[in-house]
Amino acid sequence: MLPALEQADDLYFDQICRVDIKPWSRGRVALVGDAACGATIGGMGTGTGLVAAYTLAGELAAAGGDHTVAFPRYEARLGSFARRAQRGGAGTGRFLAPRTARGLAIRNWLHNQGWFRTLTYKIAGERSAGIDLPDYARYAVRS
Ligand SMILES: Cc1cc2nc3c(=O)[nH]c(=O)nc-3n(C[C@H](O)[C@H](O)[C@H](O)COP(=O)(O)OP(=O)(O)OC[C@H]3O[C@@H](n4cnc5c(N)ncnc54)[C@H](O)[C@@H]3O)c2cc1C
Repeated sequence: MLPALEQADDLYFDQICRVDIKPWSRGRVALVGDAACGATIGGMGTGTGLVAAYTLAGELAAAGGDHTVAFPRYEARLGSFARRAQRGGAGTGRFLAPRTARGLAIRNWLHNQGWFRTLTYKIAGERSAGIDLPDYARYAVRS
């Protein structure tokens, strides 16, 4: 990769960062996914985005489409879950993208250890299950 880098004329380089927006909605516009509560690398962003989309749609249905009711409920229901994922992502990002060769070597060695993989799956499993989601099916519109 390093020799190829010298020749590249379309190199994209960016930092890993996060912007926090509060609240997640204004007027008739509400944010989901990274736009609302991105956690950067290692913070379950994809799962949190799906949970956010489900909750936002469900709360809109439960409120009969009244966004002034649904949007605050959506954020209240998801806020602490999303913040927990963001806090977890802060440390994971530094670990997965270390700054030094030594950090890279330690990361790679750990990832080749079965006990370490088991531990990370356990932590991720506990974090991702840390929210009780309502069943909004009774609000579904049937045609
Ligand atoms: C290096 C890295 C590793 C990651 N690893 C994981 C992981 O292992 N597990 C995990 O769950 N998450 C991980 N994430 C986080 C995950 O990728 C994000 O949380 C997730 O992609 C967010 O989805 P999203 O739909 O909210 O946003 P995005 O996936 O960013 O989608 C937004 C889309 O909007 C488009 N867009 C932007 N502006 C405009 C515009 N003006 N008009 C039209 N389109 C526009 C963009 O091009 C993009 O396609 C990782 C992230 C990074 C950077």
